[in-house]
Amino acid sequence: MKRREFLTTTAIGATALAVSGCHRAEEKSNGTSANINRGKKVTLKLATSWPAHFPIMGTGVDRFAKRCSELSGGTLEIKVFAKNILVPAMQVFDACSAAQIDAFHSGVYYWKGKNPAFSIFGGMPLGLTSEEMITWFKFGGGYDLWRELYGKFNLYPFIGGTTGPQMGGWFKKEIKSLADLKGLKMRIPGLGGEVMKRLGVNPVLLPAGEIYTALERGTIDATEWVGPALDSMMGFAKAAPYYYTGWHEPGSILELTFNKARWEKLSPEHQAIIASASNEMTLDMLCEFRYKNAKALQKLPKNVQIKTFPKEMMDAAKKALKAVLAEESAKSPNFKRVLASYEAFEKLNKPWDDISTKNFLNIRG
Ligand code: CA
Repeated sequence: MKRREFLTTTAIGATALAVSGCHRAEEKSNGTSANINRGKKVTLKLATSWPAHFPIMGTGVDRFAKRCSELSGGTLEIKVFAKNILVPAMQVFDACSAAQIDAFHSGVYYWKGKNPAFSIFGGMPLGLTSEEMITWFKFGGGYDLWRELYGKFNLYPFIGGTTGPQMGGWFKKEIKSLADLKGLKMRIPGLGGEVMKRLGVNPVLLPAGEIYTALERGTIDATEWVGPALDSMMGFAKAAPYYYTGWHEPGSILELTFNKARWEKLSPEHQAIIASASNEMTLDMLCEFRYKNAKALQKLPKNVQIKTFPKEMMDAAKKALKAVLAEESAKSPNFKRVLASYEAFEKLNKPWDDISTKNFLNIRG
């Protein structure tokens, strides 16, 4: 009797659940929760410009994909492909623009050939830090400009992490004066390379895998990379023990970019999950860089000498940067427009930063 009662109750319970399930489904079709993507699985192919599970940058993307799956109850699958699997590392922009892939993770300054203004979205020598860059994107108009200009390539970008301050690079010989730079061959990309060129350096572009050998053989005299955590893995200390503090990449921005048409077809729920998970990725990557750089700094080989570039060199770099920016602005109306937005934020931010963060760091000592 009791067993039968139990079965009946359970059966009623199951029916009630089924009915309420139907009810929810009706609500969904009536549009009250039309954004819910429950049960409808979407798979996106994301190609990176990094080797598989590359520390911090690559693993950050892996975590982002995992978070999208978790937050969507498994309905949003992002398949991450390491460089050169689906498309060559430096062709992810074009491939995504042409919808051969749905998304990519890379560095913004690689695409300055598409539009000179893109180099500003990646960060500026002697300019904004990571935290300041993120603030410009979110509140100072940076995102609007980035999305407008990427929109012309059928792309929709997010900040996909940021490195924090990068180091100035590894040198075989000490730089005691501006004159010591004359004729040096250095691996340094982007606007930083352009500034160095005006200080007498021959900037060279080399793929990551070739930098150490070039340094060891003396084909190049110096190289920049990122910071202690990633630099240590490259073994630069053996070939070039003078390790200089940074100026040219104070807050480089990585990008997580989607094919725009594909992005617009995603449900608002999936779009919100991606936006949220990309914020998480940016914060995590920034903190992971800080933590791992701090740890790696303590473990640098004993022969490494940490140095700061001479003041006359940094003064010359500031002047050279001004000239580079003026020339780029004269050549490209887009560069001029993005630079104006960037500089407006910089001007707004500086007095506050001077009396808050900068002042406090001086007090803290
Ligand atoms: Ca770098």
